[in-house]
Amino acid sequence: MSVTTANLGFPRIGPRRELKKALEAFWAGQIEEDALRETARSLRAANWERQSAAGIAVIPSNDFSLYDQVLDTSVMLGAIPEVYRALGAPNSLDVYFAMARGTRSENGSADTDGCCHANDGADAPAQEMTKWFDTNYHYMVPEVGPGQTFSLCADKPLGEFEEALALGHRTRPVVLGPITWLLLAKSHTPGFAPLSLLPAILPVYRELLGKLRAAGAGWVQIDEPALVLDLDDTTREAFRVVYGDLAGAAGPQIMLATYFGGLEDNFDLALSLPVAGLHLDLVRAPDQLERALVQARDDLVLSLGIVDGRNVWKADLGTLLDRLAPAVKARREIQIAPSCSLLHSPIDLALETDLDPQLVDWLAFGVQKLEELALLGLGLERGRYVIADELSANADAITSRRGSPLTNDRAVRARAAGITAESARRDGHFAQRSERQRERLGLPPFPTTTIGSFPQTDAVRKARADHRKGTLDDAGYDAFLREETERAIRWQEEIGLDVLVHGEFERNDMVQYFGERLSGFAFTRAAWVQSYGSRCVRPPILYGDVSRPRPMTVDWWRHAQGLTERPVKGMLTGPVTILQWSFVRDDQPRADTCRQIALAIRDEVNDLEAAGARIIQIDEAALREGLPLRRAGWGEYLDWAVESFRLTASGVAPETQIHTHMCYSEFNDIIAAIGAMDADVISIETARSKMELLDAFATYRYPAEIGPGVYDIHSPRIPPEEEMADLLRKASAAIDPGQLWVNPDCGLKTRKWDDVRPALVNMVAAARAIRAEP
Ligand code: GLN
Ligand code: ZN
Repeated sequence: MSVTTANLGFPRIGPRRELKKALEAFWAGQIEEDALRETARSLRAANWERQSAAGIAVIPSNDFSLYDQVLDTSVMLGAIPEVYRALGAPNSLDVYFAMARGTRSENGSADTDGCCHANDGADAPAQEMTKWFDTNYHYMVPEVGPGQTFSLCADKPLGEFEEALALGHRTRPVVLGPITWLLLAKSHTPGFAPLSLLPAILPVYRELLGKLRAAGAGWVQIDEPALVLDLDDTTREAFRVVYGDLAGAAGPQIMLATYFGGLEDNFDLALSLPVAGLHLDLVRAPDQLERALVQARDDLVLSLGIVDGRNVWKADLGTLLDRLAPAVKARREIQIAPSCSLLHSPIDLALETDLDPQLVDWLAFGVQKLEELALLGLGLERGRYVIADELSANADAITSRRGSPLTNDRAVRARAAGITAESARRDGHFAQRSERQRERLGLPPFPTTTIGSFPQTDAVRKARADHRKGTLDDAGYDAFLREETERAIRWQEEIGLDVLVHGEFERNDMVQYFGERLSGFAFTRAAWVQSYGSRCVRPPILYGDVSRPRPMTVDWWRHAQGLTERPVKGMLTGPVTILQWSFVRDDQPRADTCRQIALAIRDEVNDLEAAGARIIQIDEAALREGLPLRRAGWGEYLDWAVESFRLTASGVAPETQIHTHMCYSEFNDIIAAIGAMDADVISIETARSKMELLDAFATYRYPAEIGPGVYDIHSPRIPPEEEMADLLRKASAAIDPGQLWVNPDCGLKTRKWDDVRPALVNMVAAARAIRAEP
């Protein structure tokens, strides 16, 4: 028996976001390509060194990327759409960054909240970007079409392998597998199945493997996370063909990596492939271990993904040693590894100097996870006594977390236990509520509003930064924000919006703002995780039972409402979105954590109502992205997600109007759940889809009111009045006009006032024009 430690991928942004800074400087023309490449090279060297110093035996290469590994794969395969080809050599940065960002540069420094990114009207548009499986990482969607040809550009995988070798590391290169790449690809030709391109793509992979072998690679890691999805028979057959072929090629041994879930009904398929190794995610799907021990061929190297690559908690080493013992006994060779690439983990806990030491003792970031693996490897190979001290410290941390008052707030637990179906039901049916709300609000038909935030200008950011640094005191910051809010209210009145917002100037981010005011959350200094390209996010750590010590938004709302007669919306982030964009505790089901957040938000909703708010909006931007990867899990998820939303809103009187907002453009398959949320008004993103997704609401006979976005805020383009009026006419054809609201697609915080002002003036004019029509 032998136990080898392995890693599947390391974060590339650098512990101090060195890559982000170099990229943005390069895009701004402040540094040359050589300097960017030098930063990249030194980050890679440091990463290899760190992994080797942590005691990891199998270290990846080609896991680095200047922007995105899926984009790298597209370039490697020569799948570069025509529009970009004219811009330079296929392996040039001009082409690469044009595919990533379009050919006119965007503002690279704006805050973002996971769903809204500016794609600022470029000459050659950027490739589409979307979320990588169920993570908050975004990849560039490959584009393919009929007759697509491929040709290998192996510069990157080979170059990085050789670079590592020169530094003394014989790495295992990582490449994204052909089937997952094709399944992620889209085609502009209706009915075209990207998978039909396999025969064209396979020779390119074969050629690549040959080159890697010739360069000295003994193993290659081929990632096929698609194996954890629901697959049809054609796709399964494709796996047999592809891996039958590649395993027979004169290449390195293949470690086929699956992650983000269990293989389930693809289990037999995966085990039947003639590859040399198979990586299983045992964090998301622990039962796979027993099944693999029974079924796997003797000579298959099992890579056991036992340390959570998606979360920040220390592993329970003692328990893992117990679990792994039978595998060590039964198999000739096993590898132990993180569940998936560490791309999704923050890099190094050592940088967190401000966190509560108690909490620090419970955490493990990327580097610490590798150290855990090294310890496990030692313990398994040489016996527990070799790591006795580390084991006992680890056991202490695990016990302390389990028993800590921070993770067990009795009052919160008792309250959550008391939730019944009744507590999540509003007073009165939609029809009854709607009548009372109409009477109370007295709004015109096609009421106009915005989604919540107004531009976060340089002045707003600077004031926030000064306040954080202490150069602007509380009173000064407060006064500044009040003025900004007042200006926003006056201006909204002036242009004639019907339902106003306070503008969210006091909020850095729609999740962080609430997390900082709820108990149970911690915020890090440097726990950055790549979101896309140079964008990084620092998700809060939800470590304990959640409660709301005091009102979080009521004063801001009161200030704003005090300035105007028109209704100002109370503005909150919903529980599912807060859950989804945080690192959450792994010691209880996500559903339980979500309910706790819901109760805290419910308190805020009730307080806003008591303060006089007639309309309260609870944003659930991330509801859809929380859907499990497999259909079988959807029902359960939607049940608790919808219940959590309802819990937040069900404490108010029928005449209080509850809004929600969701910014994505795919509703067909979850429309019933959206109906079940029972909001009075929902605003959604539709401008880019030209109102097409309203069809889902029409077909479903969605009973409540809807604000289909008429203004695409992702672009600086100012939509003319007539264009928005047309969209409203189109919407009126699908939905009863009495149900319609008029609003932009999403919040306006990433925009400039110079774009926002004329756009909203046009939007109000469009609504007036429509009202005047017979
Ligand atoms: N109220 C938030 C805003 O306007 C909503 C943002 C979002 O859904 N992403 O910024
Ligand atoms: Zn939005």
